[in-house]
Amino acid sequence: MPDLVAMLKGVPGPLRHRCSQCDKTSSDLFRCSACQGVRYCTPQHQTEHWSVHESACRRIKQATKLLEFTTPGKSIGYAWGVMSTRDYMRARLELSRQLANLNTLDGVMQSYQHRREMLTLCRSDQLGLRIILPAIMLRLDLDLECYHFVKWWSTYDAVGQYDMGHNSWPCLHVTAHAADAFEDPSFLLGTFPELNHLVAVFLLKLKLLMDVVTTKVARKVLAHCGLIRDLHQDIESGVVRSPLSAQLCRKDANALHQMETKLSGQIQRIAAKIALTNSNFFVYLFNPDKALTTTPEAYSSGSWDEMALAIQFSYATFWETEGLLPLLNNARACAARGFGSDIRDTMESSASKASKDGHRTVNGSLKDASISRMWDYLTYAVTDASFLGPWSKRPSKRYFRRAASGV
Ligand SMILES: [Zn+2]
Ligand SMILES: [Zn+2]
Repeated sequence: MPDLVAMLKGVPGPLRHRCSQCDKTSSDLFRCSACQGVRYCTPQHQTEHWSVHESACRRIKQATKLLEFTTPGKSIGYAWGVMSTRDYMRARLELSRQLANLNTLDGVMQSYQHRREMLTLCRSDQLGLRIILPAIMLRLDLDLECYHFVKWWSTYDAVGQYDMGHNSWPCLHVTAHAADAFEDPSFLLGTFPELNHLVAVFLLKLKLLMDVVTTKVARKVLAHCGLIRDLHQDIESGVVRSPLSAQLCRKDANALHQMETKLSGQIQRIAAKIALTNSNFFVYLFNPDKALTTTPEAYSSGSWDEMALAIQFSYATFWETEGLLPLLNNARACAARGFGSDIRDTMESSASKASKDGHRTVNGSLKDASISRMWDYLTYAVTDASFLGPWSKRPSKRYFRRAASGV
């Protein structure tokens, strides 16, 4: 089970072409000719990895073969709705699943292309591809495409008269007037939001926030290393992850701070909506193994199965955005410190009363509270993330020590 969970989580950091046996990244790796989904640095490493890769490779070959025997015919835009196309769509869906399970850049990229084309073939999307695609786009750093896609699906039918049979298919085509990913997310926070779309925009905003933090850290380091100033912008633009963050190196310190504050506020609002839409999501984000390894069936809004699917679609994206999970864990730790004394006082005063939660420990309640209240403490964690001194002297620790002593 631990190996399966590790595989489902993926390798920390952005997807790169790497040897599947030794993790070496290089431009001259060669691909497995049978599945085109994994790469190796030497034939010897391919041989050594075969016992691990064999079953996945065979499943991809079988799915590819099955796909060759089927066709969507002329039902472009209406596949799946036309019964004779269902074998084709099932075969392509299975191939896209198997490729995604490789968790390699080749596998995820090919899976994305299959799913994107399937959505073009079936515009009314009975297969639910619109809820899977955004997190995959983020894994591939197609950040503007992801934001445009989610915004389109959230706003396209405001008056309830959109014609899915229309010739243009704007959700997959970013235009020159594409949406601004830094804008206010109110359009997403309506009465019945799609959980996976909330999570995708939440992830994207966090990715942008991490880039602001990384830019601030790079600037602090560069201030002490004596390089000529002309090189600073090049280095700063090289350390950010999102293509949408290329502008950050041209912002002054004040503008960066404003951007950090704006993004943190937007993230807090989206997080509150996610928690309202599915109260299990954040609980299992911090302990995802059960959700990653279950097989959800049909689900209703707010259910455990809905959460498990959302974790399965998005967890690799959290994992692959460097610094993100440590940032969220620190926000939880700050919340636990900030609320620790309140909860202890409450529990001690009610200890003599009968309560259905009477068996819960102080630590258990702190754990729950740290998740539900962590978003109020996000800004403390963000400040810690760009602190370069020893971790024991991080700003949040100094703040809570002062608060505890009443200074
Ligand atoms: Zn190797
Ligand atoms: Zn293979």
